[in-house]
Amino acid sequence: MTTAFPHSSTPLIRPDKDRFLAEENPFEAMMSRFDHAAQRLSLDQGLYKVLRSPEKQIIVSVPFLRDSGEVEVYTGYRVLYNTSRGPAKGGIRFDLNVTLDEVKALAAWMTWKCAVVNIPFGGSKGGVVCDPANLSNAELERITRRYTAAIIETLGPDSDVPAPDVNTNEGVMAWIMDTYSMHKRHTVTAVVTGKPVAMGGSLGRREATGRGCMLVTREALKRLKLPVQGARVAVQGFGNVGSIAAELMEAQGMRVVAVSDKSGGVYHEKGLDVQALIQHVRQRKFLAEYAEAQHLTNEELLTVDCDVLVPAALENVITSKNAAKVKARIICEGANGPTTANADRILEENGVFVIPDILANAGGVTVSYFEWVQDRGGFFWDEDTVNQRLERIMVQSFDEVAGMAARHAINLRIGAYMLAIDRVAAVHRMRGMYA
Ligand code: NAD
Repeated sequence: MTTAFPHSSTPLIRPDKDRFLAEENPFEAMMSRFDHAAQRLSLDQGLYKVLRSPEKQIIVSVPFLRDSGEVEVYTGYRVLYNTSRGPAKGGIRFDLNVTLDEVKALAAWMTWKCAVVNIPFGGSKGGVVCDPANLSNAELERITRRYTAAIIETLGPDSDVPAPDVNTNEGVMAWIMDTYSMHKRHTVTAVVTGKPVAMGGSLGRREATGRGCMLVTREALKRLKLPVQGARVAVQGFGNVGSIAAELMEAQGMRVVAVSDKSGGVYHEKGLDVQALIQHVRQRKFLAEYAEAQHLTNEELLTVDCDVLVPAALENVITSKNAAKVKARIICEGANGPTTANADRILEENGVFVIPDILANAGGVTVSYFEWVQDRGGFFWDEDTVNQRLERIMVQSFDEVAGMAARHAINLRIGAYMLAIDRVAAVHRMRGMYA
């Protein structure tokens, strides 16, 4: 007689692997790096299973009234990946491409990111499947408030703290804070970060992610004994992260030779005028309409001749198809998940020094942490204090990741995952298992 489930001494790992075979599935991108780092750490099977599973996945329907009076229903997600080190922390994204797998991957990345910079948060992420470009401000407000109400049990300064992400901004955070506060019957500023400064936001938060990118790029150039002055930089994405990274890198003496947005990019061998580009974009114009430079496509930007490439737009832009053509010596991942695992292997063979997303763009969550601390303390810091404390954390985290990578003769990405997983696993061991 045969049994349906014969005994096997082989541990059952990743039973759902078949669902994640696609190179561009972000959860697969996260998991393949996690697996590599977990193996290097000889993570025990029990913790391996715990850390590869999101703690909580919430799917909600978000009904709302269109301005026309019609009822529409969108889908919203919130995933809390791991809260062993502290409250969950993670942005909210409004985009047509939002999927549960993407939100899970982003929530996991937040967990590892907070551990890399050693701030006392776990990781979460949320999103609503919608196209903000085709919604009025009033419709966006109704969606935001209804989504907030739908996930309100998970939210709170001690449990889950959202922040802005793609297509959400400080105005959206103000609506979330207000909705939450109305339910609680008192004002709770620390329930979100990335708020307007006038209502409990932190000075320096808007610039923090781009500033962090600049700081780790400067450290990488120093480590590789390459000059900071005149280093040629190409930036994909000219929104919050990309434009500020470009501005601050230029201020350090680097030469920004190419930038792009979703309309395409501009290039100038001798260096672009970043301030003029920022003014251009502030007038709600696309870079494709900028006249003072040569034009190039987003695909061309990624393989342009430069020293530093900063992908600061989307996931999966550097893949097995174009990685071999990348000419940059350093990639600073401003975006979350811009490089696939297959591309990692090619970049490593070609000696490209990749500063991984969970380190490179951690400046944002670091100053979000400062904002949460300031809100809870009711005492606000000046911008220099914020920037100095951010610099200390980013430089120290870069050194710790680079040290881990050097000790294990691995790349910085796996070094960063090892550092993060080790920190999260240590807390799980100390806390033990609630049963
Ligand atoms: P944003 O909306 O301010 O800017 C996005 C930019 O990318 C815009 O210039 C847009 O035109 C461009 N873009 C969109 N589609 C593109 C395409 N197909 N090709 C090229 N460019 C395209 O967003 P942001 O806040 O700057 O976030 C960018 C990335 O950084 C995201 O991956 C986000 O998750 C990540 N990130 C942001 C923060 C933060 O504090 N804002 C923190 C950590 C990570």
